[in-house]
Amino acid sequence: MKKMILFLLLYLSISITVFAGSKPYVILVSFDAFRWDYLNREITPNLKKIKENGVSALSLRPAFPSKTFPNHQSIITGMYPAHHGIIANTFSDPFNKTIYRMGDTNAVRNGRWYLGEAFWETAERQGIKTASYFWPGSEILIPYRRPTYFEEYDHERPYEKRVEGVMDWLKLPAEKRPHFITVYFHETDTQGHKFGPDSPETNQAIKTLDNIAGLLFQKLDEIKMRDSVNVIFVSDHGMTEVSQERTINIEKIVGSSDCKFFDGGPIMFVEPNKEKVNDVYNILKKNENHYKVYLRDEVPEYFHFNDHPFISQIVVVADLGWSAITNKKSNWEGKGNHGFDNNQLDMHGIFLAIGPNFKKNYHTGTLWNIDIYPLLCKIFEIFPRTNIDGKLDRIEFILNE
Ligand code: AMP
Ligand code: ZN
Ligand code: ZN
Repeated sequence: MKKMILFLLLYLSISITVFAGSKPYVILVSFDAFRWDYLNREITPNLKKIKENGVSALSLRPAFPSKTFPNHQSIITGMYPAHHGIIANTFSDPFNKTIYRMGDTNAVRNGRWYLGEAFWETAERQGIKTASYFWPGSEILIPYRRPTYFEEYDHERPYEKRVEGVMDWLKLPAEKRPHFITVYFHETDTQGHKFGPDSPETNQAIKTLDNIAGLLFQKLDEIKMRDSVNVIFVSDHGMTEVSQERTINIEKIVGSSDCKFFDGGPIMFVEPNKEKVNDVYNILKKNENHYKVYLRDEVPEYFHFNDHPFISQIVVVADLGWSAITNKKSNWEGKGNHGFDNNQLDMHGIFLAIGPNFKKNYHTGTLWNIDIYPLLCKIFEIFPRTNIDGKLDRIEFILNE
């Protein structure tokens, strides 16, 4: 009997080890504002290798608005911003008179803003350890809503250190090792805003990030995990040239002090006093030039941007390359920006993937970022949430059969 139990225990532990060993690994890398066509500038030799040995999409379509926080959440939850709740980098809750701001550590860690389930939560609940070396929403102060391992956002953290941190997690003993890891780099966003997408500075940023991709593979080689890890490179959105000469002063057009204005640049949230909504809308509609104005309920369907109570009564979307401003200051002083209509190709990012679960030398058209969450669930063979907007059918064909 004793022998039998021992045999059973041995059998169980072997099968658990085999099962754990066969779980896939995925590193999800985000290059902020790495526009889809930066890959065609012949300055990205490391990323080019992925194109040849893995999957590459023509572009990755962000969700609207094409901004950082809404789209990192869309990627990780499979939902449109109006559904996952992070509708902008900055927005207000008019009912509680509180403001969400990506630079406000308390706000970004407060779980009440986040309505979607991030992939790390889905995965952890189904027995997969996860980690995040930065990702908007990864620092929520509710332990079961964040990855097992995470880092508090530090803009200045050297990129090599971030890669080193990812490798340290992969070097953990099997039972502690995360199988899903995110990591984030901002270089193309910073330089793209400051100098514009076609500047030498942005090209330098592209090269820097390509070197980081090279470093990541070199380090995976060193720990002998190159062949077992899937690496997915995405960007949250693209970048387009803007100019001080192409601004529209929305406050001046409205001509009223009864209005609150949030955000600005490619998209502006206009919140008039309740009884003034139609008047303000009509003025903005009459003067509609280089922008589109919508009542919240009439935002075009393809934006999927109306069924969240924090979206303002009136939404202004600037034409590509234009900026909506107020009297206070020019809301944007740089040479590049994003946030515009997500169907504009300039707002599209990249999607590259390589590893055991992906086809090789496979090129496809535009993919949608909301479909990455169901793709990750498929790779790990776990159940996705059923309330998502993403669809596996639109992306599944890039995986090995
Ligand atoms: P955007 O205004 O959409 O261009 O936002 C880009 C900025 O988002 C970057 O420059 C970062 O400073 C910031 N950012 C990115 N990820 C995080 C994070 N996890 N926590 C706080 N800020 C972040
Ligand atoms: Zn961004
Ligand atoms: Zn940006």
